[in-house]
Amino acid sequence: MMLGYLLARSGIDVIVLEKHADFLRDFRGDTIHPSTLELMYELGLLEEFLKRPHQKTREIRGQVGDQSVALGDFTHLPTHCKFLAFMPQWDFLNFMAEQGKRYPEFHLRMQAEAIDLIEDSGTIVGVRATTRDGPLEIRSRLTVGADGRRSIVRERAGFEVIDLGAPMDVLWMRVSRHPSDPGQTLGRAAAGKIFIMVDRDEYWQCGYVIPKGAAEETRQRGIEKFRQEIASLAPFLHDRIGELRDWNDVSLLTVKVDRLKKWFRPGLLCIGDSAHAMSPVGGVGINLAIQDAVAAANILAAKLITGNISESDLESVERRREFPTRATQKLQVAVQNRVIRRILGTSNPLKLPLLLRLLRDFPVLRRLPARVIGIGFRPEHIRTPDLHPRP
Ligand SMILES: Cc1cc2nc3c(=O)[nH]c(=O)nc-3n(C[C@H](O)[C@H](O)[C@H](O)COP(=O)(O)OP(=O)(O)OC[C@H]3O[C@@H](n4cnc5c(N)ncnc54)[C@H](O)[C@@H]3O)c2cc1C
Repeated sequence: MMLGYLLARSGIDVIVLEKHADFLRDFRGDTIHPSTLELMYELGLLEEFLKRPHQKTREIRGQVGDQSVALGDFTHLPTHCKFLAFMPQWDFLNFMAEQGKRYPEFHLRMQAEAIDLIEDSGTIVGVRATTRDGPLEIRSRLTVGADGRRSIVRERAGFEVIDLGAPMDVLWMRVSRHPSDPGQTLGRAAAGKIFIMVDRDEYWQCGYVIPKGAAEETRQRGIEKFRQEIASLAPFLHDRIGELRDWNDVSLLTVKVDRLKKWFRPGLLCIGDSAHAMSPVGGVGINLAIQDAVAAANILAAKLITGNISESDLESVERRREFPTRATQKLQVAVQNRVIRRILGTSNPLKLPLLLRLLRDFPVLRRLPARVIGIGFRPEHIRTPDLHPRP
């Protein structure tokens, strides 16, 4: 959506395909990072954007056993917004779709599912899709796979995937929120258990982290046992945990961490999770996807206007974004293996790890995680022109 918006803004005809009828799904993650807010500022959209309901988080906290620790402090970031905005991703996508309507070159086709690539002499020249009105064939100078971690585009292109593995899956659910509830503590950890809670104003979006493949075993233990485990991690939920009536109220999210060996072929580029599925660790996947889109627009927009895109242009996008992807995934995998795997595998009471003790005792250190989460490793800036500036 972001790449479509940026290209249309530069006068390039774009069709964005979305297979669903709307963006209303719970599994996307809700974080709008300071770097994305900075891009909104650069696009002149920030003020309008912040009118949408959202929660501002200036500090992220985690809880280990009964100790609550500040993990990141966003108030020193060199960005206009020194906070993480929590906004359901469907609101963000709806906002971008509405902004896109300003440009005649922006076409969003909902309920249009890409099912295959069209190839001509080794070059990808478009996609085949199914729509409510029947099959659709789109021919294009450039096709971009931005279809997430179960990308059909990457599969059809035959791209080689490097699987970095993840030791966990997540059970995802919502429980109502009361005004008297404590403030947002993103992660709560106790022996063998990790629980994530995102404040969505009227309810908590909750994630219960389980060892990879343990969903069936968790279900076998019964919903009552599951409710008790959650109430033990967040006791203030005990009066409403019955809202989880049965397993239909709990969905399984399988966690994947991988990246493509090569992100492009002639006529085709993958970005976002389609190029590199991100772990939920640190909640940075949306940031990377957006940054990929900005880099792709910066590198490719002028070429799309004047002529054809060469393989080396596509390679430039991969080169630009590969380092932040690798660095972020390296950190995520380290946290998965050294922290999450250990917590899930122990039945002993947890001690505060050294890193968290340092963050607790030296507040200045909290600026570092805030920078990695809030801005990331290679922040991008808008370099493409607006051919239809607002009056
Ligand atoms: C449990 C969990 C929690 C997470 N929490 C966070 C978080 O808090 N913050 C964060 O930054 N990241 C989080 N992430 C990671 C984040 O969700 C992704 O990295 C990010 O959404 C990637 O964006 P994307 O645009 O590349 O793909 P997606 O957000 O997956 O978007 C892909 C879009 O393409 C559509 N689509 C798919 N296939 C087709 C098709 N064939 N034709 C047409 N349309 C198609 C989909 O419907 C979807 O709208 C989380 C991940 C998990 C698993």
